[in-house]
Amino acid sequence: MSAETKDGKEAEFEIKIDTSKMSKEKAEAMMVAESSREDKWESPSFAGGLFMGKFQPELIVPFPEQTPEDKIIGDKLCKEVAEYLRANLDPDEVDRTREVPKKVLDQFTKMGLWAMKIPKEYGGLGLTQVNYNRVVSMVASYCGSTAVWLSAHQSIGVPQPLKLFGTPEQKKKYLPRFREGAISAFALTEPNVGSDPAKMSTTATPTPDGKHYIINGMKLWCTNGPAADILVVMARTPPKIKNGKEITQITAFIVEKGTPGMKTEWRCDFMGIRAIQNGLISFKDVKVPAENIILGLGKGLKLALSTLNVGRLTLPAACVGMGKQCMNIVRNWANERVQWGLPIGKHEAVANKIAYMSSTLFAMEATTWLTSAMADKGGNDIRIEAAMAKMFCSEAAWKMIDETMQIRGGRGYETAESLKGRGEKAVPVERMMRDCRINRIIEGTTEIMHLFLAREAMDPHMQVAAEIMLRVPLGRKLKAGLKMANFYSKWYPTQWINTSMFPGYSEFGPKLSRHMNFVERTSHQLARSIFHAMGMYQNTLERKQVLLSRFVDIGTELFAMASVCALAKLRHEKDPANPHFVHLASYFCKESRRRVDALFAGINDNDDRQANKIAKSMMAGEYKWIEEGIMKCYED
Ligand SMILES: Cc1cc2nc3c(=O)[nH]c(=O)nc-3n(C[C@H](O)[C@H](O)[C@H](O)COP(=O)(O)OP(=O)(O)OC[C@H]3O[C@@H](n4cnc5c(N)ncnc54)[C@H](O)[C@@H]3O)c2cc1C
Repeated sequence: MSAETKDGKEAEFEIKIDTSKMSKEKAEAMMVAESSREDKWESPSFAGGLFMGKFQPELIVPFPEQTPEDKIIGDKLCKEVAEYLRANLDPDEVDRTREVPKKVLDQFTKMGLWAMKIPKEYGGLGLTQVNYNRVVSMVASYCGSTAVWLSAHQSIGVPQPLKLFGTPEQKKKYLPRFREGAISAFALTEPNVGSDPAKMSTTATPTPDGKHYIINGMKLWCTNGPAADILVVMARTPPKIKNGKEITQITAFIVEKGTPGMKTEWRCDFMGIRAIQNGLISFKDVKVPAENIILGLGKGLKLALSTLNVGRLTLPAACVGMGKQCMNIVRNWANERVQWGLPIGKHEAVANKIAYMSSTLFAMEATTWLTSAMADKGGNDIRIEAAMAKMFCSEAAWKMIDETMQIRGGRGYETAESLKGRGEKAVPVERMMRDCRINRIIEGTTEIMHLFLAREAMDPHMQVAAEIMLRVPLGRKLKAGLKMANFYSKWYPTQWINTSMFPGYSEFGPKLSRHMNFVERTSHQLARSIFHAMGMYQNTLERKQVLLSRFVDIGTELFAMASVCALAKLRHEKDPANPHFVHLASYFCKESRRRVDALFAGINDNDDRQANKIAKSMMAGEYKWIEEGIMKCYED
């Protein structure tokens, strides 16, 4: 199979995963996914190192701060946007009417918000990732739907892939249009294709003269799609034939609004973020010039994955914004509401929730802003950090909104409109919960993030050991065996004997240094455990999704711990009289350590096999008896 090298040439690509025992469909999906991932590690990765027992605190300490000049730009824009939205947008009305008013969208054009990440040379605001994320975070704290309009456009829509991979002509043609208010969308998902794009059925067929492509198919859940002026559309172009085998080609096209044959068939309605424009879009003989291909034929998924490696960072920023809103609501209510003679926040059960929320929010901030700053700084490979930040923050935000609802009691469940109608403050917890839930699904579901992270985390091992597990000629196997023995004979002992045996990180102070030490020590334990699992399961490890998820979750906890310690250190140095940064970080780390211990325990002591059996029986209908006594929502 072929893949792209850095200099743009075609290179032989050889899959490092044994697909010989997989079904044809799964093997094809695996091939497509493997050939689309960035397979090089040209810059260091802090979080990636954790899985190899390589702890590199110098990559995250000192915690990267915004420069004063950059901060002024962000402060000014955030203030302007907040003032405008407060005066002109009622988020509950947006939710009820399913519309973000046109005058607000037009005002965004005046403010340049559709061009926040477009370089200044193309008329954009040229914001850093941090400032862009700050704006979206703040908008998300107020109105989830409005935040999605902005973020779907710029995090996954046309601006980001064009910025990364567009030709000079494409950039010159399209990028200035976003400053004029053009809105974009990203169309990958189809009715039968969600997490696994290999089976995509939308086709793009070249015309006989090769100057155009004709797109036919359906795209589902395309956010901004019904309103978009310019879309990126992924479609299957004719397969390549190599060694007699068909190789799936997925290509990204720029498609402009008004191109004949494109139609919004249905505007989808959702549980939350109800005012997004999201639709089922059909393409019938849609003719697109060949120069509208971005990155090249067959490079569509690579483009999507690379775009998301940074684009994905806006979602955790949005979760942080919502988390801060939860804190504000809970702080007020926990003080104001008195039951059983005490403000409810003073009852231990509620106090515990508040501690969880405060410390987790601090860690969410740390992972989000650390990774965003790394994206601005360059020089680090952040694909693992960005996926971890997405997964960690979307999961944590969901728990935070759930606890917020619990603490608000019945009022949490009541709509803001109803609360207001009977004379209480219109606190929108019910809407926020509905808006928040999607974050665990879009831009990579939590399950797919686990798989993505497991693949990336295992890559250094696969670079060394994959050939041993593959069906390759004996000579290559022997050579691979030698390479592997050479690597692991040096690497493995250092996973037992290393600097983590001694106390260190005194610059973090007595509380946090212990946690930094734990992260270093545990990264070695994690690396050993992964190595042992590879030995035990060999080429079946890829199927042990729950085991791999445990490894990934441990790595993610370690990343969050190190990030929050680095952030607390920075804040404490700036404000030494304030003990709270260290307290919060320390509390988060202690809780995180307990979760890590439980995850390690689960590696050897679990019921995964039994769970698989139960799922199999259930799916075969053997447990139908448990469904008795209901009125089914549909007959099967
Ligand atoms: C509000 C909204 C906005 C969206 N915006 C866009 C957009 O702008 N552009 C776009 O292209 N798409 C968009 N999507 C689609 C979104 O990205 C998909 O919903 C998402 O990728 C998951 O696909 P799916 O829903 O088909 O789930 P499926 O892929 O069918 O998965 C269903 C479940 O199975 C799990 N699962 C699937 N495969 C595996 C596996 N191999 N191992 C373990 N678990 C697995 C998933 O995690 C999930 O829990 C949007 C969706 C929604 C609801």
